[in-house]
Amino acid sequence: MNIQPEEISAIIKDKINQFQYDIDVAETGKVVQVGDGIARVFGLENVMAGEMVVFPEETIGMALNLEQENIGCIIFGDSSHIKEGDLVKRTRKILQVPVGDAMLGRVVNALGQPIDGKGEIKTDKFLPVERKALGVIHRQPVKEPLQTGLKAIDAMVPIGRGQRELIIGDRQTGKTAIAIDTIINQQGKNVKCVYVAIGQKKSTVAKIVRTLEKHNAMSYTTVVCASASETPALLYISPYSGCSIGEYFRDKGEHSLIIYDDLSKHAAAYREISLLLRRPPGREAYPGDVFYLHSRLLERASKLSESDGGGSLTALPIIETKAEDISAYIPTNVISITDGQIYLSTRLFYSGIRPAIVPGLSVSRVGGSAQIKAMKSVVGQLRFDLAQYNELEAFAKFGSDLDKTTRAQLLRGERLVEILKQNENVPLPVEKQIFIIFMANNGYLDEIEINKIKVLEEDLFTIIETKYKDFCQEMINSKITDEIKNKMHEICTEVTSRHK
Ligand code: ATP
Ligand code: MG
Repeated sequence: MNIQPEEISAIIKDKINQFQYDIDVAETGKVVQVGDGIARVFGLENVMAGEMVVFPEETIGMALNLEQENIGCIIFGDSSHIKEGDLVKRTRKILQVPVGDAMLGRVVNALGQPIDGKGEIKTDKFLPVERKALGVIHRQPVKEPLQTGLKAIDAMVPIGRGQRELIIGDRQTGKTAIAIDTIINQQGKNVKCVYVAIGQKKSTVAKIVRTLEKHNAMSYTTVVCASASETPALLYISPYSGCSIGEYFRDKGEHSLIIYDDLSKHAAAYREISLLLRRPPGREAYPGDVFYLHSRLLERASKLSESDGGGSLTALPIIETKAEDISAYIPTNVISITDGQIYLSTRLFYSGIRPAIVPGLSVSRVGGSAQIKAMKSVVGQLRFDLAQYNELEAFAKFGSDLDKTTRAQLLRGERLVEILKQNENVPLPVEKQIFIIFMANNGYLDEIEINKIKVLEEDLFTIIETKYKDFCQEMINSKITDEIKNKMHEICTEVTSRHK
């Protein structure tokens, strides 16, 4: 057979004309490299930053680095089946989570999928994981209290609805306990809660869920769990997902509370992702935008203006320090973003002062304006007295010859410390807190031995609960007038007389 070159070139030209791309590089891409929960993808030219992409077997990823040659994606979930050359599709959707009332009472992963074995979550509402924080026009200053039920916090570092208050301390100092007590205390107060566990053991989270169930607190709570065994990508998005779940209630004009436990592990997960994506490391090897990581998250907590419904989202981020070093990179960042901090100390914790709050280092910069009036007038100089007591106590160890005023200050200080101690999972209603602080501040406890104070406190609580319920209601709903004060003195005398 004689082959004509013209024929061959005609066939080749024809083939070229008929050639169709098997992939559209603008809408799909191919995996170039995959590993450690990160994939580099060629193609996907039109992809947006933060867009959801789909790998084989419906594995979801998110485009983070958009570079000239390729894009860097994080992969949520198992990536062991993804190979070089696999097809990646874009979805045109920014990553979103299901939200709504159906989320309450459930334990979900960072993508909002249920992991509690209670079946599918029936909701048709979704919100993007990353949402822009609202501008100043939509906000107003905090004005309602968010009661934690902990005497030391409600009295000294009051939190307002819509505020961001940091809980900071070394490991095992009772940080989580404060957050959980706050959730338990929201019973009947119409505050929806979200607890985000970042990088914790699954067993710890299971224990927390059990505690919440035991106190009937799961009915108004969602637990978002990105445990230590999951990929850093899931840890990274979990607080944003939780925030969107909370924002849904805020935007409806309701009140919500979110706990991020903890943001130190969140920053570490983000550092891991950033280094794998080959972003340049900065101080402590964190990427340059680690401040923005937390500021854009915490800015989403807010108290909305009346025209926007007046809802609120209060945030209680937790930071774990190493050897009480609050001047490390991440702690200083988060301290500067929040409206105050509750500082917990190991020394106090082990000397039996629990919650181990250090009065001198704990502040709430805006919550004072939201504190209940009665509490405000009763608290008075509590923080100052305690700080003074702490100084005197150290000083008094050296000498035995103390003058009368110093002795009186020490005596009072010891009692103040004693009444601020509180067990886990027993948040107190505000009227009980007010009464016991009133007693200590007015010297009713000075004559009582330290080890008998707990018994007296129990007694006081039973008396006001059974005999003075209506009076208590009146007290917390109004200013403390002279008339009310006299009545309070009367009740205090009644209680102390039984313990002489
Ligand atoms: P981690 O750093 O491991 O997350 P943490 O700072 O969150 O620890 P918790 O887990 O809240 O600390 O508490 C540590 C231990 O102290 C727990 O066993 C808890 O039961 C106990 N604890 C916390 N608060 C109190 C309290 N007010 N009274 C008695 N025990 C408490
Ligand atoms: Mg903890």
